[in-house]
Amino acid sequence: MSDGDGKRQGLEMPCQYLKGVGPRRAADLARLGVHTVEDLLLHFPRDYLDLGERVPLASLRPGQRATVRGRVMASDERRPRRAMSVLSVLLDDGSGRLTLVFFNQPYHRKQLPNGSEVLASGEVAAFRGRLQMAQPELEVLDEAAPGGRLLARPILPVYPLTRGLSQRWLRRLVGEVLERGGLAASLGEILPAEWLRAGGWPERAEALRRIHFPADRAVLGAARERFKFEELFILQLLGALRRRRLKSEKGPVLEAGDPRLARFLADLPFRLTPAQERALAAIGADLAGGGRMNRLLQGDVGSGKTVVALAALVQTAAAGWQGAFMVPLEILAQQHHAGWRGPLEALGLRTGLLTGGTPARERRRLLADLAAGEIDLVFGTQALIQEGVDFARLGLAVVDEQHRFGVLQRASLQKQGAPHVLVMSATPIPRSLAMTLYGDLDLTVIDELPPGRPPVVTRVVEETKRDRVYAFVRERLAAGERAFLLFPLVEEGDRAEIRAATEEYERLRAEDFAGLPCDLLHGRLRPAAKAEALERFRGGATRLLVATTVVEVGIDVPEATLMVIHNPERYGLSQLHQLRGRVGRGAAKSYCLLLAPPGMADSARERLAVFARIRDGFRLAEEDLKLRGPGEVFGSRQHGRPELSLAHPLHDATLVALARRRARDLVRRDPELIAQDLRPLRDLLRRAHRERMVLAGVG
Ligand code: ADP
Ligand code: MG
Repeated sequence: MSDGDGKRQGLEMPCQYLKGVGPRRAADLARLGVHTVEDLLLHFPRDYLDLGERVPLASLRPGQRATVRGRVMASDERRPRRAMSVLSVLLDDGSGRLTLVFFNQPYHRKQLPNGSEVLASGEVAAFRGRLQMAQPELEVLDEAAPGGRLLARPILPVYPLTRGLSQRWLRRLVGEVLERGGLAASLGEILPAEWLRAGGWPERAEALRRIHFPADRAVLGAARERFKFEELFILQLLGALRRRRLKSEKGPVLEAGDPRLARFLADLPFRLTPAQERALAAIGADLAGGGRMNRLLQGDVGSGKTVVALAALVQTAAAGWQGAFMVPLEILAQQHHAGWRGPLEALGLRTGLLTGGTPARERRRLLADLAAGEIDLVFGTQALIQEGVDFARLGLAVVDEQHRFGVLQRASLQKQGAPHVLVMSATPIPRSLAMTLYGDLDLTVIDELPPGRPPVVTRVVEETKRDRVYAFVRERLAAGERAFLLFPLVEEGDRAEIRAATEEYERLRAEDFAGLPCDLLHGRLRPAAKAEALERFRGGATRLLVATTVVEVGIDVPEATLMVIHNPERYGLSQLHQLRGRVGRGAAKSYCLLLAPPGMADSARERLAVFARIRDGFRLAEEDLKLRGPGEVFGSRQHGRPELSLAHPLHDATLVALARRRARDLVRRDPELIAQDLRPLRDLLRRAHRERMVLAGVG
């Protein structure tokens, strides 16, 4: 045990030192954001297996969510395609039968030998006249196995997992920590007794035991509500503290009067929409107002946020301050820089580009220029907030595609000394969610698209008709249009996946699209290769781009009119909307075609139908939230535990409002949280949100 860790006992003890964990499992847990014992206790179940609510197989109906129990009669694995496995396991409970289906999880076969007894939970669907349950939650009922004793409990927790960890193992670990008692109790109550009474909520340690291993549904409901409130309250409190601090600070006054701003706007090839004008007016007033701006600019894909941000940056530079424009992807930084440096330099402003791919020598020169104030406006990625980047006079930092960054990354631009911060989100976040996640931000919405954009024609087409879709694409390409062919690949994809993409691309190039200029674009290409592929596409040298979701955000090629998405069922609605947003950026009629694979679940089919019908990203985001929950929609890309693991900003809107009111009241009454009875809360914030507390100025 190292010295540093040795001192960390109790709640702060790293999980590694728990019995049965060790370095390897500790690393697995860390991928879930679980580092300490406290993290483990607060790693809440995402679902439960209710042994009391078992349903006889004979009574199952399609569309029903149910927990069933039965014996394995047979199993069968098929490989319909390369890199795809479908495992079917037939269950029987004496009353009837049901097939469990697992995609790409062949290892379940070993776990489910014939004759074993299992508990399965999931959604029942009819497929080719038979009932099945795809990707169920699973529990093999083997009381002799380690942790089997827990099966005696009436309701079992189902945790979010990661590769390498099993439900049973995690259940046992949490169960043991809870049984030791002292640890859970030392979490201490952080909410006033009065609030608990008003909500009918259990005290914290008891609520913890109940949320992991509840005795019945009613007890579980109250415990969950308590923790929902707690996480909303903490988020709101951090936001309220930070907001109060920013409001009380003075910022430089950046006047909008410089003629260069007027010239920038006059030289645009279009006129701002009224919504863009309003947004710019609000931002301009903030910049000139003497305080510090901390504003979220929200607007649907293609609503034209970039140009508003640039105008604000021009105002900043014209007032003698520097500006930074941070985006989540290197190709986006390149695109913005390449596209805007001309008009900016025409105004006499000096621009730069800083990304992870910037060669060392250039980087050194750029850093020196930034520090000497010789650059007015820098475009870049996270590289902008790394050690060694110093600005002479950073006035405004713009963070594009905010949802791709963590709150801390946004804040660290302020640490760089940016008095004014503008964050933008292309994912139209419903207002209640924006309030939840960004409690410290003022909000401006661009609520209209530039004129003359016909809606993108969106159709779901069976994958069996792929040839016809490709023929249609060929026809449009022959007429001079441009198309994206999108394939689902994890951007962190391993070699085998990259190879598969490359092979698919070679095949398309040799067969379906022989003789047409095309390119491949995926996340693993060298930065220069990515930029070149995108440039060729933008310039029209290639007219077909075979791509992964690396094109999801921000890519702006107004001439592109076709988007074909393979395996659309793998994306959420908001992500599909982002992808669709890559076309329909000009006046030409555009298409988004979704290739539905055979055997796609009914629920996925419904989701895609919703997507084809709804054009408004804001409404789609709401649908997405209803269907999936915020952790999945917003948490998946960020590291560690999502900001919200239990509460749902739409479904729990009343709790959101309550948490917000109480947080703001508290901060108004006691801005430093010094009251004696706030001590456990203060300690918790310090432990779990240290960096944010520093940012909020409460130490
Ligand atoms: P997003 O809000 O998704 O970031 P962009 O800023 O990339 O959208 O703008 C989308 C496209 O619309 C760009 O090609 C941009 O040049 C163009 N655009 C922006 N504002 C207007 C406008 N007022 N009129 C016409 N086209 C515009
Ligand atoms: Mg954008």
